[in-house]
Amino acid sequence: MNILVINCGSSSLKYQLIDMTNEEVLAKGLAERIGIEGARIKHKPSGKEDVVIEKPMSNHKVALEIVLNAIVSPDHGVINSMDEISAVGHRVVHGGEKFSGSVIIDDEVMEALRECIDLAPLHNPPNIMGIEACQELMPNVPMVGVFDTAFHQTMPEEAYIYPLPYEVYEKYGVRRYGFHGTSHKYVANKAASVLGQNIDDLRIITCHLGNGASVAAVDHGKSVDTSMGLTPLEGLAMGTRCGDIDPAIVTFLMEKEGLDIDGINNLMNKKSGVLGVSGVSSDFRDIEEATEKGNERAKLALNVFARRVKKYIGSYAAVMGGVDAIVFTAGLGENSPEIRETICEGLGFIGIEIDKEENNVRGKDKVVSTEDSNVKVLVVPTNEELMIARDTKELI
Ligand code: ADP
Repeated sequence: MNILVINCGSSSLKYQLIDMTNEEVLAKGLAERIGIEGARIKHKPSGKEDVVIEKPMSNHKVALEIVLNAIVSPDHGVINSMDEISAVGHRVVHGGEKFSGSVIIDDEVMEALRECIDLAPLHNPPNIMGIEACQELMPNVPMVGVFDTAFHQTMPEEAYIYPLPYEVYEKYGVRRYGFHGTSHKYVANKAASVLGQNIDDLRIITCHLGNGASVAAVDHGKSVDTSMGLTPLEGLAMGTRCGDIDPAIVTFLMEKEGLDIDGINNLMNKKSGVLGVSGVSSDFRDIEEATEKGNERAKLALNVFARRVKKYIGSYAAVMGGVDAIVFTAGLGENSPEIRETICEGLGFIGIEIDKEENNVRGKDKVVSTEDSNVKVLVVPTNEELMIARDTKELI
C-alpha cells in the first residue's frame, strides 16, 4: 500500500510517497516558488537519479500535476500508475478545537477547515489548496487530514486558558492550541521505544528546535502543556519569531515606531528571534559560525535562545512533578551538540547530566546523557511524514 503525504505552504508543496508495507520512502521532493517566477521541483526518486524540473506553476494544482507525472514517469518514476496510490495524507496546521485526532476528509471536514482560517490565516489556506488540488486530480482516492494541533488537545483547561476575559475564548476561540503536535507525538513515542520503556510510564519533555521551535510536556503519553499558543508565535525564541515577550511591548512599539497591525506582526514574526538579536541570520548554522568568530551579538542570540528552552524544561518538570526524559529533535535539536549542551548546562539539580562524548552526534536516535543521569537525554530525528502516513493507513 503506497501513501502520498502532502505538506503545502503558501508557495511550496512538499511530498513523500511511502510504501507502507515496509515504511520505505519511494520518492520525495519539494515544489517551490509556486505562483512566482522561477518555479521548480526537486524530485528524489529512490534508486534513481535526483532531478530538478523547472516549469512555470501558476498554482498548487499545476505543481501537483507535475509531481504526479514525475512519480509515474518511466525516467524518474517509482510506480507504474496513479492507481498504485492508495490514499493521500495531508498535513494541516490548525484544527482548532474540532480535531483531537486525524480524520478522513469529507465535505464537513473541509467546512471545518475553512472555519479555522481565522486562527491560522497564513497556514490553513495553502493546506486547503493542497487538499482541493488532490481532490480534483485524484477524485477517487481517500484523503486524511493530520493536524499539528491535534496532539495537544489533551491539555487541561488551566494549560490552555489565557488569563484574559473568558468571553474572548467563548467568542473567538482565543486559547492555547499548540503546534508541531505530530512531531512531539512521534519523538515522544520513539524515545520511549529507544529507552525500552512504555510511554505510559514516562514524563517526557520534547524540544522541537527548528526554524520554528516549541517544547511540549508529554505526561504518560499525553500532551499536558506546550509553548506555542493561539498561533505559532508564542514560546521559544525562533529563527525570526520573538516568542514570549511582555505583551505591552506590542502597543509600546506600535506607538514609538508608528507601526500598524501588519507592521508589528511583521516585526514579531519576521524580524525578531535569533535574526533580530544577532543581526546576522535566522539560520542557526550562521549564528554558530559567527559566534565562533567572536561575534558577541550572535553569541547573545544563542544564549537567549538556550536560556528560554532551559526555562521551559524547568517549568514543565514542575508541571509534571518531575521528568524522566528530555528529547531533542528538528534541524537544530538533531544537529547541534553545542546547543544541547548549553541548554542542559546547570540542570544537574533536576538530574540532567549530558555526556559530552555521547552528545557528539547528529541526526540519529541516541541517548546522550551519562549512565548515572537520572533523567535520560535523547536525540531523536523527527519524521512527521511517516507519522502522517501511519495515521492515514490506519484510518483508511
Ligand atoms: P523548519 O522545518 O522549521 O523550517 P528545520 O527543522 O528544518 O526547520 O530546521 C531548520 C533549522 O535547523 C535551520 O534554520 C538551521 O538553523 C538548523 N540546522 C540545521 N542543520 C544544522 C546544523 N548542522 N547545525 C546547526 N543548526 C542546524
